[in-house]
Amino acid sequence: MNTDANAFIGSKATYMQLIGVHVEDNNEMFICITPDVFPSAYMPGMKDMQGLFPGIPLRTSVFNRLRNARRIVKSQRPDLDLLLTYGYRTLEIQTELFVKELEIEKMNTNNAQSHVDENELYEKIHRRIAVPLVAGHPTGGAVDVTLITKAGKMIDMGSAIYDFAAHTEPTFSVTGVALAHRILLRNAMAEAGFIPFDFEYWHFSYGDREWAYMAASSHAIFSQKSLHEVQSMM
Ligand SMILES: [Zn+2]
Repeated sequence: MNTDANAFIGSKATYMQLIGVHVEDNNEMFICITPDVFPSAYMPGMKDMQGLFPGIPLRTSVFNRLRNARRIVKSQRPDLDLLLTYGYRTLEIQTELFVKELEIEKMNTNNAQSHVDENELYEKIHRRIAVPLVAGHPTGGAVDVTLITKAGKMIDMGSAIYDFAAHTEPTFSVTGVALAHRILLRNAMAEAGFIPFDFEYWHFSYGDREWAYMAASSHAIFSQKSLHEVQSMM
């Protein structure tokens, strides 16, 4: 079993590290992924984008990489398939989610101490919900994926997708068949050029700040986009 991609185990870029990454958007177009072109479905609890587009929006090259990852999965396990469960999130929704967390955190912190360092505050919240300026999903470069059977049934991945209670557990903390599935998913995605996020086995990215930081690229190639911007980039 190939676990060479383990170099990133336990790593997670901090807000301060990500904010230091230079971004030059390459203006790559978006494409909407519908189930007839690629297995895709929003999961319960993650349907905030549903209805805004006819499918799941992604940058074009991200979709091409995803197709490669699917080919790799199927070549190794013809009984399995790759399912896309999330892609682009509007900058507006990301900001709304972040501001909600910020307000809760500010209220808690204000009660405990008089001076609050904003960077420290952002860092703390970033571990739960990404700060909009560095967030991956609003760039159209981050994807959430998992493995399913050819018939479309979920398989054992050790924990359910979006189980944020298992959020502090690194990808390789499970055992047996679940571990084998996580490694298959991770290796296929890595081979297709994605960077894994080791505290959410389903989250991978290409082109965003996280990718640039982890891949030691000189700059990120995708910046965050508003709903209106993406509508004009299709
Ligand atoms: Zn994600």
